[in-house]
Amino acid sequence: MSPEWNRLTPAVRVQIEAFQDAPPVRLPELARALGVSVKASTLGPGISGEIRPADDGGFVIRINRHDPPKRQRFTVAHELAHFLLHSDEIGNGIEDDVLYRSSLSDRREQQANRLAADILMPGDLVAEAREAAEEKGVGDVVLYLADLFAVSEAAMRIKIGQ
Ligand SMILES: [Zn+2]
Repeated sequence: MSPEWNRLTPAVRVQIEAFQDAPPVRLPELARALGVSVKASTLGPGISGEIRPADDGGFVIRINRHDPPKRQRFTVAHELAHFLLHSDEIGNGIEDDVLYRSSLSDRREQQANRLAADILMPGDLVAEAREAAEEKGVGDVVLYLADLFAVSEAAMRIKIGQ
């Protein structure tokens, strides 16, 4: 797992792990448990997602409803990672473009991407599923695991180091 995962408090890690019992990770339920609402919206051109303070004191994530479902899912995890790691820097809100760049530094964006990957593809669960897939003899393991975890092939390939 990433340094960002290890920076979370044990209580928060336990809270996330409760939604990682089987693939795909239950992301909408996790967001709700963290007090963050998620809305598919029409966003500005070139914007994949944003996170802003909500009127009720929580936060709201908006994702581009025109993006493919797996992409929307990664965006939710990325914005949740900003919430978990950078809540002091969200201010009135941050917007991520298609390359997940925002007003935050590139370093912050990389942190959010790494934690998003840990949320969507927990190491133990991926290793277990990979072993089962190889025993079963599925043709393309990366493609199979990407579908199972509802992430892009590119994200899964990075995760399992292929
Ligand atoms: Zn971002």
